[in-house]
Amino acid sequence: MFPGEYGEAKSVIQSGCTAFAPFGAMTFFALVLLAILALYLAWIRQSAPFLGKRYFMITVGGLIWWLAFVTLELWFLEPACKILAARLAYPGIAVVPPAWVLFVYCYALGRTDRLGAGRIALVFGGSVLISAAVLSNPWHELFYGPGTGPVSDEPGSPIRYEYGPLFLASATWLYLWLMAGVGMLVVGAFRTRELYRPHFLLLFVLTLVPIAGNVAHLLLGFSLGDFDPTPFLFACALLVYSWVISTEQLFDLGARARDVIFRQLRNPVVIVDSGGRLAGANPPARELFGLEGGVLPRALVELERKLRGGALRPEDSRTIAIAGRSWEVQSTAIDQPVAGMGGPLGRVLMLVDVTEMVQRQQMLQARLESLLERYNEAERAARQDSLTGLLNRSGLADAFDTALAESGARGLALAVIDLDRFKDVNDTHGHGAGDRVLVAFAEALKSGFRLEDLTFRIGGEEFVVLAPGLSPGRLAGRLDTVRDALALREVLPAEPGYRIGFSAGVVAIPREAATLEEALERADARLYEAKRAGRGRTHSHGAVA
Ligand code: GH3
Ligand code: MG
Ligand code: MG
Repeated sequence: MFPGEYGEAKSVIQSGCTAFAPFGAMTFFALVLLAILALYLAWIRQSAPFLGKRYFMITVGGLIWWLAFVTLELWFLEPACKILAARLAYPGIAVVPPAWVLFVYCYALGRTDRLGAGRIALVFGGSVLISAAVLSNPWHELFYGPGTGPVSDEPGSPIRYEYGPLFLASATWLYLWLMAGVGMLVVGAFRTRELYRPHFLLLFVLTLVPIAGNVAHLLLGFSLGDFDPTPFLFACALLVYSWVISTEQLFDLGARARDVIFRQLRNPVVIVDSGGRLAGANPPARELFGLEGGVLPRALVELERKLRGGALRPEDSRTIAIAGRSWEVQSTAIDQPVAGMGGPLGRVLMLVDVTEMVQRQQMLQARLESLLERYNEAERAARQDSLTGLLNRSGLADAFDTALAESGARGLALAVIDLDRFKDVNDTHGHGAGDRVLVAFAEALKSGFRLEDLTFRIGGEEFVVLAPGLSPGRLAGRLDTVRDALALREVLPAEPGYRIGFSAGVVAIPREAATLEEALERADARLYEAKRAGRGRTHSHGAVA
């Protein structure tokens, strides 16, 4: 037979593809590799999620498909069967490069693997077209040309393929993908942080090895015991890569040390991905949270959400309560491997047990509050007269400036009041009776004035009224009312005829006096005048001006 007789249009399967070549070392190797890849795919499927996992699985699946049919091609004896197997390998072949590039894109550059339907169609549409072109080859022979056939007449002789225009178009498309992947890795390796660079270089080499094999196969006829070496090289490189990653040989001592710290640290540490999902936890965190279900405590989830959304202000608390203890959460963002590629990949949250500190803080807080309360109480007491409950002299000093400022243009009126012949009460009925008179007077005085007016006891039986917005005349009028009310009251049962009498002097502020001292002095003078004029009266202006 000669090349050409086996053109796709003419090739006929005679044995039903049941005639196999003897089982050789290469077939054995291919089957072992297939089995390993299948186990690997199953293992990846159930292992923890990582970025681009689905495209990684599609890559491995495509490789399995590819290898399976390449193995059959080698194993089949009949040329037509070999060619059929080679064609059937294409759905796998056409899927591997774009899937691999998507994996590299997601994994190495830290992108999420949820792509839109349009992009998926663009990426895998080419794979579908290539598969359609190669599977329909017998009708057009534009993929493998009519010159495709066995190299020699020997049974099981390898096939020499004549590459048609559709083959070249397909190869170009797939190579464009691989070039895109290589370009992405080169750019990534330059821009990445030091720690990730070996990772990029390894992925780079991994992508180049099968490409080199394929170029050598297509251009130089290089083969691996009659096989296209590409899927073998790809599969081996992939397994080597996974082994390196899983044994962490890629990273430097520093990275390993960090890993040791992560495991040995007594503080609970959790790692969450960019969506807030749990991506890792050290043993203390597992113990604390009972993480077997993969669920973080709600308080931590909420805090993490705020951190992620940038909603946590510096003054907001980072302390949460878990398992009856207080934990301060320290958060560190895990940056993208390549700068400028978007938000952080995730976050490391370290919990520091601050229970004792919080308890001490709460105790101190409570003590401070009680001290403050007592201080305020003492402050109030210092301004208050304990006998009558009115404000005292220092209370007057405090209140005066405020009252003056608040009264504005309306001004204030101030009265100094002295009880008449009070000494007699003391002398006749004793000090206790005197005190009762003082209390009764204070009550009468207070009830004779408005809420905004202030009443003080500034000395033994001397009182002051501060009345914002009242004229001296109106203030004197109110004092008269108080005097009238007192005239109706009996406060000393021992002396039924006794009525509390008082004299007062009133000034207008700021018209007649600008300061408290001035006002007291002038009002005192008027009070003295009232006493001299016979007591029981109020002087609001007079000879002593
Ligand atoms: P005048 O009409 O001139 O004011 O006569 P007066 O008797 O009221 O004279 P004076 O104002 O000098 O007397 C004040 C008296 O008030 C002297 C003191 O015994 C008494 N006194 C001062 N503080 C208290 C106090 O807290 N309780 C009692 N019961 N008496 C006091
Ligand atoms: Mg007096
Ligand atoms: Mg008196």
